[in-house]
Amino acid sequence: MQVLLHTDCVIDILKKPNRSVLNLCREKRIQAWVLASAVPILHAQLCQTMQDTLARKALADFLQHVTLLPLTGVDIHSALADSDMGLLETLAVTAVKGFGLACVVTSLPDGFKGTDIKIIKPDALADFITAAEKSVGKVPLLNIPATLPEILPEVERGMADVVRSGHFILGPKVVELEERIAEYCQTPFAVGVSSGTDALLMALMADGIKSGDEVITTPFTFFATAGSIARSGARAVMVDIDPATFNIDPAKIEQAITPKTKAIMPVHLYGQCADMDPILEIAKKHKLTVIEDAAQAIGSEYKGRRAGSLGDFGCFSFFPTKNLGGFGDGGIVTTRSEALYEKLKILRNHGMEPKYFHKLIGGNFRIDALQAAVVTAKLKHLEGWTASRRDHAGHYNRLFEENGLTQFMATPREIFPRHIYNQYIIRVKDGKRDALRKFLGEQNIITEIYYPVPLHLQECFAPLGYKPGDFPVSEQAAEETLALPIAPEITQQQQVVAKILEFFS
Ligand SMILES: *Cc1c(COP(=O)(O)O)cnc(C)c1O
Repeated sequence: MQVLLHTDCVIDILKKPNRSVLNLCREKRIQAWVLASAVPILHAQLCQTMQDTLARKALADFLQHVTLLPLTGVDIHSALADSDMGLLETLAVTAVKGFGLACVVTSLPDGFKGTDIKIIKPDALADFITAAEKSVGKVPLLNIPATLPEILPEVERGMADVVRSGHFILGPKVVELEERIAEYCQTPFAVGVSSGTDALLMALMADGIKSGDEVITTPFTFFATAGSIARSGARAVMVDIDPATFNIDPAKIEQAITPKTKAIMPVHLYGQCADMDPILEIAKKHKLTVIEDAAQAIGSEYKGRRAGSLGDFGCFSFFPTKNLGGFGDGGIVTTRSEALYEKLKILRNHGMEPKYFHKLIGGNFRIDALQAAVVTAKLKHLEGWTASRRDHAGHYNRLFEENGLTQFMATPREIFPRHIYNQYIIRVKDGKRDALRKFLGEQNIITEIYYPVPLHLQECFAPLGYKPGDFPVSEQAAEETLALPIAPEITQQQQVVAKILEFFS
């Protein structure tokens, strides 16, 4: 839960040695916000009773425990035009509505007369929190704004730099992101691109893959994997998956190799790496390129090596639902080869080098500087978020075990640590998956099926000539898998497991 501390409440906290509201927020993991535009007012009020330097220090100390909530110029203009309440009160209401906060905490509720948002007095906050904890709210699969308090100050600064510089495409922010991601993924080079999908397409293009070639991949993945192969002009050749990891089964790859095969595109699905050693060995033997679809796997590891550093190319996505998501589309390609790095940079910008001279036919695959600023700011938090996801996965595993639920469903297996749990996937036995999902939906617990139709059975891939039964492990996974909420901020795991227990009892 997130609350806005109104100025009177902040002044009370600053003037009293007893900071019960702050302590309560810390104890209950409630995020407290303060209007950024109120800071000079707070400072002026404090200066009435203390020296300027002391007032600044008191404010700076206090602001360590809360998040400053930014308002836009438009918010301020509309507040000035709306005289139903005091100006600060109108701004507080705007903030609460805009950021979806639970309430305003104030000792002066009369100033908020007529508003439809919750106004809570400081001494009633504890009861308000308890009541909110008891009410069984919606359990979303993901709550993207939940990380805002952690990231906003730095994201705002990065975005302001970009807006003020007027440098919106590529440029220094993108170079900074590329350097940070390369380091994080343990590769020498990275090239920021427009999406995870384009990262895959560019890797194929940089490898010179064209019409008539074949690329081996898995049918149990997001569409972009095989979609990018088709867009490169090549034919996607499917190989079934391993039932424990849901990733391509290396034992089945060699029988799919023909003289036309140019590359293997394994996917690190849900955040666990494919079994890369045998894949790399086969690739070496047959002189094939390995393009990792690591869109769901930033920070995942295979025998101590990071995803993206294992094959010739690593392709990542900054789509907002991925573990490291931007405020829009974006992606990146990692590589160990300086020659491929240079080629990727040229392909990203219409194959142009120098300006208006085109050696290659590339495309507009550029990432914008705003996305780069956002992703760079978020990267600092990624290890912490990954640790939370892994804790949540362990917690689910224990809860399912303790409640005897593993006879009805299988929990995910971490065969190659470390799994980063972009998704926590259970397998529901005896054809009960869809009924369980419906039941959970009725209880306001949101789940998802990744993915209900394997790619070899997608209508658009009919020309590939596959039919039901060709990849039985993938087809079974499509019928049994269910993604449960696992995002770093989730607090309702007990509730999710209790409802699943209710379903099976
Ligand atoms: C998300 C995803 C992609 C595509 O990434 P976008 O940034 O959405 O284009 C590709 N492959 C897999 C496995 C994905 O999950």
